[in-house]
Amino acid sequence: MRLAILSDVHGNLPALERVLEDVDGRKPDAMVCLGDFVGYGASPNECIESLRPRIEGAVAGNHDLAACGRIKLGYFNPDAAAAARWTTEHLTPGNLEYLRALPFTIHWRGVLLVHSSPAEPEEWQYVLSPNDAAFQMESCEESICFIGHSHYPGTFELGGSNVRYTREAVVTGRRDCRYLVNVPSVGQPRDGDRRAGYMLFDDEALRFEHVRLEYDIPAAMACIRAAGLPPLLAERLQWGE
Ligand code: ZN
Repeated sequence: MRLAILSDVHGNLPALERVLEDVDGRKPDAMVCLGDFVGYGASPNECIESLRPRIEGAVAGNHDLAACGRIKLGYFNPDAAAAARWTTEHLTPGNLEYLRALPFTIHWRGVLLVHSSPAEPEEWQYVLSPNDAAFQMESCEESICFIGHSHYPGTFELGGSNVRYTREAVVTGRRDCRYLVNVPSVGQPRDGDRRAGYMLFDDEALRFEHVRLEYDIPAAMACIRAAGLPPLLAERLQWGE
């Protein structure tokens, strides 16, 4: 089975359209979203509405829950908070309701899906170190867990008590290991690579592919500026950070 796993779309429609075009060409068996449909970008409704009919499920991201009032904006930086308020004002009632109902985790086709971390999905922690990753992997029922949230793609592998971390684009796993895979962000990469991305996972070959794609960044920046969102949210798209 080949599975497409998208995350952190952040209302960036040009990036999402490019990703969906690539998904259409590769014809995976199913698709899912790890949350943060909205926040930062100028097309929250369009992103939700183009993904919803195509995905088998989705988990809640912190920006999704901020936009629909399920979490407070206290720890958001000023630009993120301003974007969250803008998003709340612009989302349709139906899309607000959709975000409000998203679960924190999903057990899906033999893997675990969560936006931030499997051990504490409501704490919005970033899993970046091997020690943190080992703790997280040991807390999972499934041997494979996909996360987003940091917008910093990579793969942690736990074999015995050893954790290996790699940022290689294609990783072939082993059946006797556990995996925590941080999938690329569709709409706001922060790893210095400005291309849009998503994960293509083959559960028979145990192959993880971090797909990255050029897209129309000037168009995405123009949408953010035209919406009156903080200018830095447009600028950062061209840097990929
Ligand atoms: Zn995000």
